[in-house]
Amino acid sequence: MAVFKVDNVEDLYEIGEVLGSGHFGQVREVRERATGIPWAGKFLKLKRGVGSRLGLERKSVEKEVEILQSLQHQNIMALKDVFESRAEVVLIIELIRGGELFDFIAEKESLTETEAIEFLMQILEGVSYMHSKHVGHFDLKPENIMLSDKQAPNPDIKIIDFGMAHCFIQGEEYKSMGGTPQYIAPEIINFEPLSTAADMWSIGVITYILLSGLSPFQGETDEETLKNIVAMNYEFEPHYFSRTSSMAKDFIQKLLLKDQRERMTAEECLIHPWIKPLTRTQMAKRNRSSINMKNFKKFNAKRKWKMSYNMVSACNRLCKLKLVCKTKALEQQELRECESDQEDTETKTASLLRRRLSSSS
Ligand code: AMP
Repeated sequence: MAVFKVDNVEDLYEIGEVLGSGHFGQVREVRERATGIPWAGKFLKLKRGVGSRLGLERKSVEKEVEILQSLQHQNIMALKDVFESRAEVVLIIELIRGGELFDFIAEKESLTETEAIEFLMQILEGVSYMHSKHVGHFDLKPENIMLSDKQAPNPDIKIIDFGMAHCFIQGEEYKSMGGTPQYIAPEIINFEPLSTAADMWSIGVITYILLSGLSPFQGETDEETLKNIVAMNYEFEPHYFSRTSSMAKDFIQKLLLKDQRERMTAEECLIHPWIKPLTRTQMAKRNRSSINMKNFKKFNAKRKWKMSYNMVSACNRLCKLKLVCKTKALEQQELRECESDQEDTETKTASLLRRRLSSSS
């Protein structure tokens, strides 16, 4: 069982600015008082009581911590320490300064497939390592793929957010209800037993977007997106894939397969000729092909807009709460709960939609 320190985190770390918000809490920059070294602190709110709807079960924080403790890889965010107080758990994690990979790419004028593969390879290395430890991430998406330092000549990819990860135990079945509609595999929507292959589906979706700026299954609504996934309703629209190599399409097709056993594993991806060309011709084709930067920039701008829209609606709800709060103490308490509440609805999207889908079919 994971051991959490009971010291007050603020005695040992100076708490700095907010870096981002995630499931059930915030990530802040923190500085270790003894050494001056900067880290990131992930502050997770715990459920107050058995009946409480808000906050995380201690058990699920333990699961995230145990998984992070079992993973040490250059492309996976490292965990340093864990602190616990009555109401929250603080994970002290590696500080990742380079922002999201997709934002970094969107700033470029152009990018060849060969250059894009440099990043994809690192994602695959991290995922391959994770899968070799029987861990599935189950929430691979652009927001969870960051860069160590975007000023570095060859920045490292860092996979973050293991809040939905699961470590498989031989002989034990695992089903999950969560995920982000655009990126989840059909077996998640169908509530079937899962394997690490669900991550490979997400990598197929991420690669498709990276090359074209289109999201393969995106519908007008989340419900429509999930229906498209289950129906395997996707194609390579020539208008968006005119500069894409046939090897890249083959790579994606071997990941976006309904039968999870048929999908390439991360190890197999690393030796696919698109990633590791066998001939000079293959290499040349890759160098000549490029990502659809104009459309990719559009996709990324829309993605960021949606993220900030979600943030603004959360802020509006916080403001409304402020107006009705009677005492300062109550205000603080409710504000925390409201933040968690917002995250709560986000992670449940897939399960709610699944229920609606099954009742409508
Ligand atoms: P998470 O709850 O892990 O998804 O994190 C929420 C957000 O905080 C992410 O989308 C990032 O913007 C930011 N973040 C998470 N981990 C780190 C980190 N180790 N270093 C810097 N920023 C981070």
